[in-house]
Amino acid sequence: MRAMVLEAPRQPLRLMDVPVPRPGPGQVLLRVQACGVCRTDLHVVDGELPNPKLPLVPGHQIVGRVADSGPDAHRFALGDRVGVAWLAWACGVCEFCREGHENLCPRALFTGYTVDGGYAEYAVADERFCYPIGDGYADPEAAPLLCAGLIGYRSLRLAGPAARLGLYGFGAAAHILVQVARHRRQRVFAFVRAGDEDAARFALSMGAEWAGDSLRPAPEPLEAAIIFAPAGELVPAALRAVRPGGVVVCGGIHMTDIPSFPYALMWGERVLRSVANLTRADGEEFLALAPQVPVRTQVEEHPLEEAGLALERLRRGEVHGAAVLVPG
Ligand SMILES: [Zn+2]
Ligand SMILES: [Zn+2]
Repeated sequence: MRAMVLEAPRQPLRLMDVPVPRPGPGQVLLRVQACGVCRTDLHVVDGELPNPKLPLVPGHQIVGRVADSGPDAHRFALGDRVGVAWLAWACGVCEFCREGHENLCPRALFTGYTVDGGYAEYAVADERFCYPIGDGYADPEAAPLLCAGLIGYRSLRLAGPAARLGLYGFGAAAHILVQVARHRRQRVFAFVRAGDEDAARFALSMGAEWAGDSLRPAPEPLEAAIIFAPAGELVPAALRAVRPGGVVVCGGIHMTDIPSFPYALMWGERVLRSVANLTRADGEEFLALAPQVPVRTQVEEHPLEEAGLALERLRRGEVHGAAVLVPG
C-alpha cells in the first residue's frame, strides 16, 4: 500500500510502498477513506514530541471502512464506517484508567505517534478504541471531528459553562468549537495573530462575535479562554483577559516556553490548566452531540502524497478550517 512515512524527525515525509498491516487480536484493518491533518502531526514531524515510533505513519483522525478483523475482533462488520482518534490504547488497570482518566494512562499508545496512523491507504486499530461514524457526514468532513472536535470538546468542557469564551488561535479546533459554543448560547471572542485579517474574517464568519489581536486586551472580561495556538506568550495574555475566578485551558500538546509573569495575573482564583489527550467517553459524547448542533466542518482536501504540503500550509496558518488527506 502507499503510505507517507516519517523516517526520522525533521525529515520530509516520504511516499513509500509498504505492506498492508495485518490486524492482530482485537484489531480491525481499515481502508482509510480520509485522515485529518492536525497540528500535533507537525509537532511529531518536527521532533517536538519525544520518542515517536520510527519509521512512523502519522495521522490520528482516521475515517475508514472495516476491511478485515483480527482474531477475537467481533465489534464491527465488514464495510462498517468507523473513526480512529489519538488515543489508540490504554491499559485499563492502572489507577488513572480505573478512575476514568484513561487519557492520563502512563502506558497509553497514541495513533500516528507511538503506533502507525492514517497517512496511508490502510491502518489497523484496536476495535475498542474505534468510534462508529453516523451517516450525517461525508468521509473528509467527519475526519476533523476526531481530534480537532474531540480534544477541542474536552477543552470546552474543562473551560466550564462560560458565558463569554475566548478562543486563542482560530484553526481546526476553534472552527468546530465556536459552533458548539454558539449552540449553547455562549458568546465567543476569537484571538488571532496581529494583522491576520483572513483568520479574523474566518472566525467572524463561523460565529465569533469579535475577532482581534491575541496579545491585546479583550473587549470585555472573559469567563474562560482556551489556547490552541502553541505559543507560550498567549498564557499571560489569556490570564489577563479572564475575570477573577476565570479559567484558562491550554488545549495543545506542545507549547513554546511560557514567559514569566506577575503573580497578580493568577491572583483572584484564576485557574490555569492543560488538557491532555482524550477518553473514549469524550469521543462518544462529542460524536453524539456534533450532528445535533449540527457541527459543519470546513475542509480542504489533499491527495495522500500532498501530506507535506498540507502540513506546511498548516504551519503557515493558511488552512481555514481543517486539512484532510484523501488516499482515494
Ligand atoms: Zn492505564
Ligand atoms: Zn490532533
